[in-house]
Order: sequence, then C-alpha cells, then structure tokens
Amino acid sequence: MQSVYVKNHFVKKIKRGYPWVFMHQLVGSAVDGIAKGEWISFCDEFGRFLGVGTFDREAEICGRIISSRYGQVADILPVHLHQARIRREKHFERPFYRWVYSEADYLGGLVIDRMGDYVSVQINTQGMWLCREEILQAIISDISPKGVVIRSGSRGARREGLPNHQITWGNIPQAIPVWEDERLYFTSILAGQKTGWYFDQRVNHRQVEKWASQGQKVLDVFSYQGGFGFAAAKSGADVVMVDCSQAAIEMSQKTFAHHGLAAKWHQADAWDFLSSCQDKYDMVIIDPPALVTDKSHFHSAKSAYLSLLDKGFQCVLPGGILVFASCSSHVDKKHMRSWAEKILHKHGLQGEVIYQFGHDHDHPVLSALPSMRYLECVAWRIL
Ligand code: SAH
Repeated sequence: MQSVYVKNHFVKKIKRGYPWVFMHQLVGSAVDGIAKGEWISFCDEFGRFLGVGTFDREAEICGRIISSRYGQVADILPVHLHQARIRREKHFERPFYRWVYSEADYLGGLVIDRMGDYVSVQINTQGMWLCREEILQAIISDISPKGVVIRSGSRGARREGLPNHQITWGNIPQAIPVWEDERLYFTSILAGQKTGWYFDQRVNHRQVEKWASQGQKVLDVFSYQGGFGFAAAKSGADVVMVDCSQAAIEMSQKTFAHHGLAAKWHQADAWDFLSSCQDKYDMVIIDPPALVTDKSHFHSAKSAYLSLLDKGFQCVLPGGILVFASCSSHVDKKHMRSWAEKILHKHGLQGEVIYQFGHDHDHPVLSALPSMRYLECVAWRIL
C-alpha cells in the first residue's frame, strides 16, 4: 500500500478524529505514483501509521481517512457499513433510514439510504467510486437486498470531477414504498432526486403531522413527493402542494391515491405561485433546495430566502404557522430568525418561534466536522 506523510503540525487534529487531509499538509511531493482515488495509508513525518483511506491529489480534500486501523478496503468497508446499520436500528423500528452518512459513519464520500429491501447509494468521491464493487458486495452480504442503485451525479461528485454514473443491481420497481414513522409514501430510487427520499426531514414531517388537524388549510411549497403535504393530510388537513417537478408531483399523487386522500397540486415555480397567491392558510411550509451552495453566493441567496419568507408570512392566517427549512450549511437558525424578524416587522406582524430542529438521528454530525450539519427547520406562529 502506498503512503503519504502528514506534517507534524496537522497530526494532532487527525488523531482527534478529523478525517480530511489537504495537499499543503503533506511532506514533500511523493504522491506522483498514487493513482486517482487510490486506497493508501496516512503516516506522520516519522512514518508512524495514522490511518488508511482514499487519496485524490486533484481534489480539494485530497485525503479522506476512513479508518485508524490498518487494512484493505475489502476488510474495513463491510465493518463500517455493518456498524452504521446497527447504530440506525437503535433509532428506527423499520428498515427505512439514511444508512451511511459519509464521514459521520467513517465512510467519507459515501451516502447510502435504505428503503426496506432497496438501497440507494450516492458516491461523491473518486476514492469511493473505485470501491464501488466492495460497497455493493458489503451491502449484499449485510442485508440481502432485492435491488441496489449506485449513482454519482451529486453536486459534491461533480466538484470532485466524477462523471454522472448509474449502476443497478437486482430488480428495482419504478415506485417503492418508504415508511417514516406510521406514514407510508412512495418514491423512485431510479429517477428520484438525490437518493430518492429526504429522510433528513422525517422528524420535521412528524411535527407537521402533529400540528395539522381536520379541516385546516395547509400549503406545502417545494413539496417534492409530498413529505410534508401527506403528513398534514394524514391529520385531516386540506392540502395544496407546489413543485416544479412533474415527476415529483406524480409520485406524491401515487401516495395520496394509495391512501384514498385528495389534494390540489400545482406544477409551478414557487416564487411565481407565492407572488400571485391570494389565499391564506392555517399552515404554510416552505422547504426550498439549497440556495447557498457556496459561501460566495450567500448574499445573493439571502435575498431569495427573504423573498420566500416575505411571501410565506403573507399567506399565513392569524394564529397560523409558517414552517421554513434551509438545507444550506452556510445558513443557520440565527440567520433565519433574524430574516424572519425583519419581514414580520415590515408587515406589522408579531410571531413567536415555536420550533427549531435540524436533521433526524440518521444524519449524525461528526464532532470534528461540524460543517456536516446543514438542515435547519424553524417554525413561527403568527400572533
Ligand atoms: N419538502 C420536500 C423536499 C423538497 S426538495 C420533502 O419534505 O420531502 C426541494 C424541491 O424543490 C424539489 O422537489 C424540487 O423539484 C423543487 N424545486 C426546485 N426549484 C423549484 C422552484 N423554483 N419552484 C418550485 N419547486 C422547485
């Protein structure tokens, strides 16, 4: 196995669990013979072993340490995958969860969602792409699934120069059931966005189900496959859903039809819909895609968040609730609360923050890597 040597100054951090290595932290330039994404060992300046992992000299994060124990990928990966599953089973009764959340499960560059007998794998680095056969074999031997899809089309993968691949194994139906608590939805892991389902919002969907009640009017903007909308409808609310994706709308219609529930859907741009919206609702949910994908976009994205909050608050009935989520790691609760305060003040409204949460327990955050936290969900009641 090839080795790279980390400068003394950075060794302490790695020993404390920090899993990333950058080019300037390495001694010398003895990385020329290492293939893109190769499984290597990381040592300190004196050649003492620190860990094994993947290496890609062209990537911004060139080294990703996967284990502090020496071993080949075929030995280490199945153990980490199995341990991640055991940890998830302590939280969830049904086998529907984010099985692997990258560095938090000591598998940097790899995301896996499990939906019962089906598994959706998202590979985000060249190093993990080279391990795809080991990943597939580890999944098969751990849970004997019926189908697995491996994709590499994420924004993170593009940043690492990884082309858009898709590999399927087994038989995968077009629509597969997804359970969250007692809510049964449908999704597609072949054609859905990202891994097919947003398990990160499970806990926030649950809260919306609790708040909603019979006969209430609920608006779910950026509804995707009905995560929030169906949760509200299950409690008896009359739901209106807005999304630009026809495929996502059709999948949420499948969920509603399965339960014999009705709703209204609008395939529209969220900003256009909200600008022309004359109706008022007991609850409005706004869950846009990541608007700040890079720190440098923060200011332009801020105005997009402000306009959504502005339009959203205007659609809420007195006593009603606005639920707002951001999945940009550069936006935190403090930003959201201060932006909301500004908008409420502008409209002469008063609100109280009644809920703040992030992602659910299947998205743990490595304490050495707090930037793994990205989802913020805040709710205000209009007084
Ligand atoms: N609320 C969903 C997840 C939303 S993901 C849940 O809880 O599961 C973001 C959604 O926004 C996607 O479905 C995407 O199709 C949609 N979207 C992106 N840009 C949009 C726009 N300009 N107008 C309407 N929908 C948009």
